[in-house]
Amino acid sequence: MSKYETIVIGAGLTGLTAACQLARANKKVLLVAQGMGALLLSSGAMDVLGFQPADSPAPVDNPLAKLSDFLAEKPEHPYHLAGPDNIRAGLTAFLELVRGKLDYRGVVDRNWLLPGAVGAVHPTCLAPASMANGDLNVRGRMLIVGFKELRDFYPALMTQNLNEQKLGVQAAALTLDAPAPVAGKMNVTPLELAAAFEQPQFRQQVVRAVKNKGRGYGRIGFPAVLGLAQHADVLADLQQRLGKPVFEISTLPPSAPGRRLFEALQKVFLEAGGRLLIGGKVVDGIIENGRVRQIRLETASRLKPLAAENYVLATGGIFGGGLQTDDQGRMWEPIFGLPVRANPDRHQWFAPQFLSPQGQPVFDYGVRANRRLNPVAEDGAPLAENLFVAGALLAGANWIAGRTGGGVALATAAAVVKQILSYSEPSL
Ligand SMILES: Cc1cc2nc3c(=O)[nH]c(=O)nc-3n(C[C@H](O)[C@H](O)[C@H](O)COP(=O)(O)OP(=O)(O)OC[C@H]3O[C@@H](n4cnc5c(N)ncnc54)[C@H](O)[C@@H]3O)c2cc1C
Repeated sequence: MSKYETIVIGAGLTGLTAACQLARANKKVLLVAQGMGALLLSSGAMDVLGFQPADSPAPVDNPLAKLSDFLAEKPEHPYHLAGPDNIRAGLTAFLELVRGKLDYRGVVDRNWLLPGAVGAVHPTCLAPASMANGDLNVRGRMLIVGFKELRDFYPALMTQNLNEQKLGVQAAALTLDAPAPVAGKMNVTPLELAAAFEQPQFRQQVVRAVKNKGRGYGRIGFPAVLGLAQHADVLADLQQRLGKPVFEISTLPPSAPGRRLFEALQKVFLEAGGRLLIGGKVVDGIIENGRVRQIRLETASRLKPLAAENYVLATGGIFGGGLQTDDQGRMWEPIFGLPVRANPDRHQWFAPQFLSPQGQPVFDYGVRANRRLNPVAEDGAPLAENLFVAGALLAGANWIAGRTGGGVALATAAAVVKQILSYSEPSL
């Protein structure tokens, strides 16, 4: 049986960033995951705290300044376990990991205010530079460009909603017929359009259609489809030809910025010497005498046992597959059978308001952990000293209430990395 120093289960934002940091610290790491998790759904921006209270219409300016008020209202939130130092450390580590691969901008104590797909304001700490160009803290006129072929992106609706909020931004809409090879297609996804934007001829046609109409506007916004692997070149080329700042606006899934981030972090991990297994489902794990002994991976022919000194469980919540449910109101953690804090009355899982700013109660359910991020039993007793739980799987990690998704992933990943490195480094 292969022996690793750490096995990380899950390749969402949490698992990827934890695995990259451990591999860069020269640890022998295996990262195993069934799929990409929520990255392909998310905007690619890292929210630390966007609204406090969660139903406040006013976005938070400085997430750290509002953190204690937020935590006083959310006694189960994972920020209690990670603490402000790890929020800062997690964001710093993230910027360090993507440096030279993706241009991310921002700091932990100031929110960008980004225009969202329907014109709502999205407060976030770290954003791809292409999105940060759309910051609504900067006043003035902007033109929002869309394509008839692109699914679920409506510039007219978006600009109407933006203008009604009287943010000091005057937005106008322009909807184009996309040039070939997208022309005439219906319900094109953001990833298809992003691939088209990598073709110089496609961009040339778009520039031709936008340039004159863009006169008099300070900047031009596009859906977040400005390339995948060649994103930096696509953005620079458009800005140069249009002669003004260009920005991206998050789309409905699948998310091109999320895809770029997944690819970039995978590269960082492999370059640091990590071993990656995407498409592998971990079916179970054995805990004996307070330690995980092994996990088993589903392969075509058999269940393959794998063992390590430490294990990071970053399998996400309901979206990622880290929590399973049935119609009887059961919710469980499928690999180790860890206790899950959840309401056994399934009728209480959902609020009457579908798009509640508090998120749905079901998003609060998850695995409880102590300050070492070890999973704990009902009475608070740790269950396995070499098993660390992080990210959306943790109880209270409701990413919608207050908008803390990326912050929880990065902060708890940083906290786990610290635990593992201090645990395995003998004190001098
Ligand atoms: C629609 C949507 C939009 C969002 N938008 C934003 C946003 O704009 N900004 C923001 O900050 N946050 C956003 N979030 C929240 C944020 O994306 C998540 O909180 C965060 O990414 C969670 O990351 P994670 O790594 O903990 O879990 P996930 O991303 O869910 O990853 C879980 C991983 O575990 C793997 N896995 C699960 N079970 C197994 C198994 N048995 N064996 C092997 N692998 C397994 C999955 O395949 C996946 O790789 C959004 C979330 C959603 C759902």
